[in-house]
Amino acid sequence: MIISDYNQSRIRETNSKDFNKNGKYILYWMQSYRRLNFNHALDYSIQIANQTGLPLVVYEGIRMNYPWASERLHKFILEGFCDNFNSAKKIGITYWPFVETPENQDKDLLFKMSESAYVIITDDFPCFIIPNHIQKVSEKSNYKVIAVDGNCIAPIINYGEVASAARVIRTRIHTQFPEAYINRSLASPKLKNIPTYKGKPPFEPFSCQIEDIPKILKKIPFKLKIKPANDVIGGRKEGLKILKNFINNKLTRYSVDRSNPSPPDKCATSSLSPYIHFGYLSIDEIVEEVLNFNLNQKWAPDLLNFTQKGKRELFFHKDDFVNSFLDEILTWRDIGFLLFHKNPSFNKDISILPEWIKTNLKKHSKDKRPFIYTKEQFDKCDTHDKLWNSAQKELMITGRMHNYMRMLWGKKVIEWTSSYEEAFLILEDFNNKYAYDGRNPNSYSGILWCFGLFDRPWFPERPIFGNLRFMSSDSTMKKFKMTEYLQYISSLEGNKETLFG
Ligand SMILES: Cc1cc2nc3c(=O)[nH]c(=O)nc-3n(C[C@H](O)[C@H](O)[C@H](O)COP(=O)(O)OP(=O)(O)OC[C@H]3O[C@@H](n4cnc5c(N)ncnc54)[C@H](O)[C@@H]3O)c2cc1C
Repeated sequence: MIISDYNQSRIRETNSKDFNKNGKYILYWMQSYRRLNFNHALDYSIQIANQTGLPLVVYEGIRMNYPWASERLHKFILEGFCDNFNSAKKIGITYWPFVETPENQDKDLLFKMSESAYVIITDDFPCFIIPNHIQKVSEKSNYKVIAVDGNCIAPIINYGEVASAARVIRTRIHTQFPEAYINRSLASPKLKNIPTYKGKPPFEPFSCQIEDIPKILKKIPFKLKIKPANDVIGGRKEGLKILKNFINNKLTRYSVDRSNPSPPDKCATSSLSPYIHFGYLSIDEIVEEVLNFNLNQKWAPDLLNFTQKGKRELFFHKDDFVNSFLDEILTWRDIGFLLFHKNPSFNKDISILPEWIKTNLKKHSKDKRPFIYTKEQFDKCDTHDKLWNSAQKELMITGRMHNYMRMLWGKKVIEWTSSYEEAFLILEDFNNKYAYDGRNPNSYSGILWCFGLFDRPWFPERPIFGNLRFMSSDSTMKKFKMTEYLQYISSLEGNKETLFG
């Protein structure tokens, strides 16, 4: 199999070193897209293995001390390891899982593996610690490193410059879509002619048995004491279950009900973001499943309605709920990925906001705040506002927060802190330490949306917010029936003590 010309735009050589002529295997270093199906980097690794006749080794590792590391995130990731271990066995892929503990430390493992690898191929994720990891490994390795962009439906490079608003990138996505859809990643890897590597990894591999996860978690001295949320399970198997439940039971309500804050089992949204963030599911497969919902024939790009190009409605599908869902998972997701792709870095802060917002915020920076809370007060859910406290509790206890509540939550922290910079840092920290889907370009585009990014000026100009969109708990209470949501949050309260001690 040779990857298509279209997908060549996903491939980026991250150093100019040679391939290792004495290499014994192709190393796929799985960092962001933690799955063995629908995976562009894996497809490319298999192509190189086929071309060279060398075996393929998939390495997935987790260190102890990444930013915001906690038992919550670690467990979710290790459950994904177990699924990958089982799939690798079925498919016949050599899979090397590494979990760092105080007694089994990562002493330059990638460098050691790179010395025997013909090439390292990895995921090109534009946010969090990944760009830095790739750069360091590319510098240190004596051989070629290649990063593969499997982030979005289309190669990000094809989207052009940073988009200022959703309508701008929507048109570009619609233009790319037919080719991107045809060139989706493969549902199952085809390994027919690839030999198996007989050597051993340069470390003690993790057993990948579910029952060993608590034992290994106990060994790790996490600085953040955040326990896993009840009933939240990581891994591809669980992600597929949630996708199926969404399509069968929620999708048809999506366009009407998605903004309505309600308990996760009742709300119309998918709850897929953690599974997308950790790469357990691919955008390609989710989009395909949704497009094929309730059709008599297999969906194909000739069903696209190009008279609606650039519009939210009717472009992809006759059903409004399909278009509505795709607009979130494509337009709103990809706008953040494009922003990071153009300037990959650990994070983004409010200095990235457009000039009109920066000028506006400067003008209002000294405005009197109606309430000022410290980070500790916010963290204890101790504000005067019951709805805000509930949203924060949801995040802390369950590791998720409904999208509408997330917007209100962010806007209120801006209103109740003494500076915009402080508000940003509080939101970043809470979002990234508690949320399963944090540490993602969407984390930053979501938080920065509260500061006006990708939004338009709103009138009249107000204190503190200037021309930024304003949101209030009172209007949220009027707009939605919140009783069920509030009861759900109260029902979680008992868990708070056990989760944080
Ligand atoms: C302050 C704030 C912080 C946020 N932090 C994150 C975060 O850390 N990680 C994260 O993935 N999203 C974040 N979002 C965006 C959005 O809230 C979540 O993607 C969504 O709530 C996830 O729930 P779901 O999977 O049920 O979404 P669904 O409505 O079912 O949507 C399906 C998928 O589309 C994408 N999507 C949906 N809405 C948005 C959006 N507004 N922006 C970008 N992508 C979207 C996500 O990948 C999501 O999983 C944030 C939004 C705000 C306002």
